[in-house]
Amino acid sequence: MDAIDEARRVPVLMYHRIGAVGNAWEQKYCVAPERFREHVRAIARRGFRPCSLGAFTAWLGGDAPLPEKSILLTFDDGFLGVYEHAFPVLRDLGWPFTVFLVSGLLGQTDAWTVESNPAGRTYPLLGEREITEMQRAGVSFQSHTRTHPDLTGLDDAALEAELVGSKRDLEALLGAPVDCLAYPFGRLDDRVANAARAAGYCAAFSVQPGFNRPGTDPFRIRRLDVFGSDSPAALARKMTFGTNNGSMLTAVRYYVSRMPA
Ligand SMILES: [Zn+2]
Repeated sequence: MDAIDEARRVPVLMYHRIGAVGNAWEQKYCVAPERFREHVRAIARRGFRPCSLGAFTAWLGGDAPLPEKSILLTFDDGFLGVYEHAFPVLRDLGWPFTVFLVSGLLGQTDAWTVESNPAGRTYPLLGEREITEMQRAGVSFQSHTRTHPDLTGLDDAALEAELVGSKRDLEALLGAPVDCLAYPFGRLDDRVANAARAAGYCAAFSVQPGFNRPGTDPFRIRRLDVFGSDSPAALARKMTFGTNNGSMLTAVRYYVSRMPA
């Protein structure tokens, strides 16, 4: 690979639910299926290409180059809508993606959102049948703990049970190593990051926005939050500028900051 074509910074996109958007609160964490297809077309048209989780972590560790404009696609929580609406689209393109599962709630619902969603609604999560089918098609499944707690609020024993337990549950189900974690609510501190390492994970994903670079702390991988309200152009700006703010103003500020004084 030509040195000039190597990625120096890679954005990780974080989606949650794909499906019908019920209210303004849900629009933050849910992308409608048609909007998701628009996002995929925008990613393709602008020359971005999703890489596999393994290629990403190797690149982060400085072990292997990635092509310029590589991105990583992730879906938190393991909603059934990912199987129904995102999987067919991404499978047809041969694009790799990663789903972070709440191992104690497979086939159940996202009960942890019931208090924050003004409508009090919950949504179905992937069950073993869908997970197995997607795994056979190459989808990567990793841990989002057992019950989706704020890990920073747990005592050491409960923290270990969430981290080790989820890894064990999923490895038994998948028959494959599970060595990446997404912190629920993106909540972490040094104790949580150290516990993740001690539990046997090799990398963990935060919700801190920004780009990743070789040498980025593998237990504080940055991600860009993709909202249901993001137009394709806004998504493209997020990937280009490494920010959660996809407004035009972000682009203007970026270029102004680079202008000679
Ligand atoms: Zn989550």
